[in-house]
Amino acid sequence: MFIKPEYDLIVVGAGPGGTSTAITAAKLGLDVLVLEKQQQVAMFKRCAEGFAIGALEELKLKMPRKCWRQEIDGSYIYAPNMKEFLIDLGQTSGYVLERRIFDKWLAEEAVKAGAQVIADANVYDVIKENDFVCGVKANFIGEEYEIRSKVVVAADGVESLTARRAGFPIVNNPILIDSGFQYELDGIELKDPRKLEFYISNSMAPRGYIWVFPKGESRANVGIGIVGNSTETAKRYLDDFIKKNDRFKKGSVIEVNAGAIPVGGLMKNMVMNGLVLVGDAAHQVYPIHGGGMGEAMIAGTIAGKVIWRCIEHNDWSESALSEYNTLWWEKRGNALAKSEKVREIVEKLTDEQLNMLADSLTKDDLMKIVGGNAAILTKALLRFGVKSLKKKILG
Ligand SMILES: Cc1cc2nc3c(=O)[nH]c(=O)nc-3n(C[C@H](O)[C@H](O)[C@H](O)COP(=O)(O)OP(=O)(O)OC[C@H]3O[C@@H](n4cnc5c(N)ncnc54)[C@H](O)[C@@H]3O)c2cc1C
Repeated sequence: MFIKPEYDLIVVGAGPGGTSTAITAAKLGLDVLVLEKQQQVAMFKRCAEGFAIGALEELKLKMPRKCWRQEIDGSYIYAPNMKEFLIDLGQTSGYVLERRIFDKWLAEEAVKAGAQVIADANVYDVIKENDFVCGVKANFIGEEYEIRSKVVVAADGVESLTARRAGFPIVNNPILIDSGFQYELDGIELKDPRKLEFYISNSMAPRGYIWVFPKGESRANVGIGIVGNSTETAKRYLDDFIKKNDRFKKGSVIEVNAGAIPVGGLMKNMVMNGLVLVGDAAHQVYPIHGGGMGEAMIAGTIAGKVIWRCIEHNDWSESALSEYNTLWWEKRGNALAKSEKVREIVEKLTDEQLNMLADSLTKDDLMKIVGGNAAILTKALLRFGVKSLKKKILG
């Protein structure tokens, strides 16, 4: 019942990466199955729900009103000394989503496009023959299934069991993974519900930042991302921040979320014979702010098209599928690699140096640096920099 023995494409994981792949491939006419291990698509939220408009343009979809809680038109960015940068874009540039509803809507769009989505279906292995991945083994409500396909997409998140079982050499170096922790707080005071708040400090949030992403007048995701090999927990750092902040410390805890964010370790190769990695599974996350939903959706759209072309040409070998590597690196990889360089510089700065940097930057500089412009950052560092600092930080 429900599951057929064979499809063109099996997508493992119904996160934004998986469903975007499925929407694209199904619209092009492929027979697509999406398997999701949670009993409900998007049952668990591991996300601050910040989302920039751009990614939906790739999919040519219009997000329904139910998917978002708050329109965003800018942000407050704080240096360790609380120097404030107000970025006011004057118009809606993004949203704080209701992620469970958003992911479910994307799954509905996949179904509308002709894909089949099955929840409570845990993929525990791949089928591999003659060095090609050609299907998966899954458990669906207590029953075992062996399902075959021409191509399998591993969109099963940062741990990607699918890629590992296929023998894909995934390395999750803790230095390149952020540890995220978040409270969804209600009954709190926000500076401006239309603005995100970012607190940058390597002592308050080593290598990361604290975020406040509004979900209405008095509710927000208040969270933190820190380097994965920290000896202190992300929760401890976030609690310290909240304790000192009258706006948040009396809030109600509506939800608690935690998860890993692959903020580095971009992969030159994300395919093997019959297998494509998409989203967090391929570390496709913006290294400075850790946003991965949009990245997963863009990658999924590219993957869906490439897989369709490969199946049309009857060749889904690693070499044919590697068009995905080329197109993704052209569209996003190079930009992400630049932003990783910026992050590598910033993470070496002390709070004192971050304050000096903040004092010497304009708002425009800051936006360019967040956009991955390492030259402006290094120039600013050298302006106030000591030679030893140059050596230590810039190498
Ligand atoms: C605390 C935190 C805050 C974040 N905040 C933001 C933010 O504000 N904005 C943003 O853009 N990004 C944010 N991210 C990152 C973002 O959540 C991810 O980058 C994004 O969800 C990646 O999408 P994906 O489809 O690749 O993977 P996922 O969304 O992780 O989806 C993978 C899916 O695969 C399923 N799965 C896993 N294993 C199996 C299996 N064996 N069989 C079947 N199904 C399986 C999972 O259940 C899951 O549904 C945050 C992450 C964390 C941890």
